[in-house]
Parts: sequence; structure tokens; C-alpha cells
Amino acid sequence: MVLDVNWTVKWLTLCAQAMAEHRVELIELDRAIGDSDHGENMDRGFQAVLDKLSDSPPETPGAALKLTAMTLMSKVGGAAGPLYGTAFLRAATSLGDSPEIAPAAWAGALTAARDGIVARGKAEPGDKTMVDAWTPAAEAASQAAADGSPDALTVLVAAAEAAEAGAVATDPLVARKGRASYLGERSAGHRDPGAASSALILRAAVKAAA
Ligand code: ADP
Ligand code: MG
Repeated sequence: MVLDVNWTVKWLTLCAQAMAEHRVELIELDRAIGDSDHGENMDRGFQAVLDKLSDSPPETPGAALKLTAMTLMSKVGGAAGPLYGTAFLRAATSLGDSPEIAPAAWAGALTAARDGIVARGKAEPGDKTMVDAWTPAAEAASQAAADGSPDALTVLVAAAEAAEAGAVATDPLVARKGRASYLGERSAGHRDPGAASSALILRAAVKAAA
């Protein structure tokens, strides 16, 4: 499996599909510890990404991710818009204009995305945010990429599984950043919506390669 621009567009298309399918679930998660808008925001944002991709088809994976970043930044709103915008922009920059994403480059892109989210939102692992999905995902991808010469799918799967486990692990945490932190102890016992949407994004990357 080669992670080229066609794979990238398929990934983003499957992200849009996942946000539409899980819209209500993300709304419910955000209702419990936020303001109920996360599912709506992400669905609207990725539908706008689909429109942009068909209006101006990108020529490289990096260009596709840059277009995604700009669109999410302007369409998602809330806390998640600028955070995802930064994540996709940093990932795009790390990929440059190369036509394909090698396994190590995918790990590098996830690490850049994670670092961008941290730079923007100042959350640490354990603060019950999307950082709790991206940090283990970037680490697992880096480890998988360094382990012999893995195929792309192996590295994609490692990242998705780690993000999913990271999202589940936010359930008992008390939020220390973002809107959920206003609830203090009452934020415990609910999954962080942004960690959940991040896991959906990284699972879509696997589906695009399957
Ligand atoms: P808002 O909180 O403005 O309504 P959303 O509901 O779209 O925005 O997104 C909420 C998600 O954003 C949270 O679930 C969390 O994952 C993420 N988030 C909020 N603040 C931060 C932060 N400082 N760092 C990282 N992620 C954050
Ligand atoms: Mg919200």
C-alpha cells in the first residue's frame, strides 16, 4: 500500500463519512462535559473539506492536508477548529511536497500534528483533551516505523489503535483544559469528545488503506 495523494483524499473522504456517522455520538459526549457542539462542528468542517477537495484537487498528500487545515480552521470553530487546523498544517509542513508518505514520514507527520496541538492549546497528556489520543498515536507510529521495515498499513494500525485506547483512557480523567475543565471533578466519567473525534480520524486512515 502506497500512501499517495489518492490515499490521502480517500482518508479525508472517510473522515467526513465518520464525522457524519458519529455526529450524534460526538454531540452527546460534548453535551456531558461541554456545550454539545463538537459533532456538529466536525461534521460541518469535514463536509467543507470534501467541497474544497473537489473544487481544487490537490497534487500531493501535503497539499491535501494543507487545504484541510485551512478549511477546518475557518469552518469548525470552537476550541477544536484552531487545534485541528494547526495539527493538519503541521502535518502538511512535515510532509513537504513529496508524492508519497513513507511509514517513518507518517510517524513524523503525527508527531508534528501532536506538537502543534500542544503548542496551540498548552495541554499535557492526562489533561483529558485530544492530546491524550494524539500523543500515544504518534508514539506508537514512531515505534512501529522504527521496528524493521514495516509496511504502511502496520504503522497506520498502530497509530489508530493507540488513539482509540488513548480516547478510552480519558473516561476517568478530570479535565484540566478547555470547556470541560469548568466542571472540575464532575468531568470524570465521560470520554473527551476531541479525543474521540481524533481516534475516528486515525481509524479512517486505516480504512483508506484497507
Ligand atoms: P468548544 O470546547 O469550544 O465547544 P469543541 O466542542 O469543538 O470546542 O471541542 C472540544 C474539544 O477540544 C475537547 O473535547 C478537547 O479534546 C479539545 N480541547 C479543548 N481545549 C483544548 C486544549 N487546550 N488543548 C487540547 N485540546 C483541547
Ligand atoms: Mg463544544
